[in-house]
Amino acid sequence: MLGGRDIREFQKRLLNWFRAFQRDLPWRRDKDPYCVWLSEIMLQQTRVVAVIPYYQRFLERFPDVRALAEAPEEDVLRLWSGLGYYSRARNLRAAAKQIVAKHGGQFPRDVDDALELPGIGPYTVAAILSIAYGEKLAVLDGNVGRVIARLDALRGDLREGGRWRAMQARADELVEPKAPGDFNQAMMELGATLCTPRAPQCLLCPVGDFCKARKLGLQNVVPEKRKKRATEEISLAAAVLLDPQGRTLLLPPPRDEREHATHAAILPLISKMWHFPTIAAEEHPEEELRSFLGKLSPALAKDRTMRLEPLSRVRHMVTYRAITLLPFRVLVAKLPQLEEAKSISLPELVSPSALAVSNLTRKIARAAL
Ligand code: SF4
Repeated sequence: MLGGRDIREFQKRLLNWFRAFQRDLPWRRDKDPYCVWLSEIMLQQTRVVAVIPYYQRFLERFPDVRALAEAPEEDVLRLWSGLGYYSRARNLRAAAKQIVAKHGGQFPRDVDDALELPGIGPYTVAAILSIAYGEKLAVLDGNVGRVIARLDALRGDLREGGRWRAMQARADELVEPKAPGDFNQAMMELGATLCTPRAPQCLLCPVGDFCKARKLGLQNVVPEKRKKRATEEISLAAAVLLDPQGRTLLLPPPRDEREHATHAAILPLISKMWHFPTIAAEEHPEEELRSFLGKLSPALAKDRTMRLEPLSRVRHMVTYRAITLLPFRVLVAKLPQLEEAKSISLPELVSPSALAVSNLTRKIARAAL
């Protein structure tokens, strides 16, 4: 176990390595709290390469907290469209409003104030406050947890038996007080680039001399793999209505009280975004979808000639849910007039950020084209 002088040497080697070899990422060019905050939220559950273009587009459109606070939710979601986990975008905007209303437009420096913001937990607070303000707070996420577990050769599931709390204490002990922001980023960088889940590159590691797992030859078995939650299979059916001009119909983001229009089980799957008329498919998807369309619009209910043409099925994963979606193309002379629904050209829907839709909706649109 590292202690005293070893810790200082560990910090020095890690920081030297980070300063020499860190990846050039757009959010590292500016320590502005807004930029740090935005990048940290976008990077949750999302890979760096996927985040970069979104981050740049988002900053161009909303260059500061005030611009974000004043933006309509629809605009924010449109720029987030395709990045997934849309509650992050909603929380970001809600937090921006709170920052403007309560903190004069400046991201709060106080931990308790920061924790009161929507979508902000202890990890995000530590990352933002250490990087933007130099506060001595240690981050602990999956990457850092893996590095610490290997440094100390910890056995067992890291999320069980109080191990995560013990690792936070260890991270607090290791953090370099004079450069906590760089130190935290260095730990995350090490976990993301060398101390990876599979085949860690110990020969290149700047802190390999301090690593117990490496000494014991355990770097490939620590940390233990977490038991995976069983996959839930879900079948959905969606209607792509299409008029002679190539326009289709999308329903608005569902609100809980409007569950009569959209099956409750579907709400989390369409991410509260604009979506095709969709149902949870049970025994007879085509008939069930036809009956749903009839309830949606009297004009569709009366149309005896309406044909539901099955398209190629779409597979989609949302966390532990494996979705099989059966899209049906429905040619209509005229799209039904529904309150709050939107008609949009189908090819337009496929292009990024045309409208706030989920990746699932975009996949269905592609299947229908
Ligand atoms: S020596 Fe290997 S296992 Fe240990 S911290 Fe470095 S990369 Fe990770």
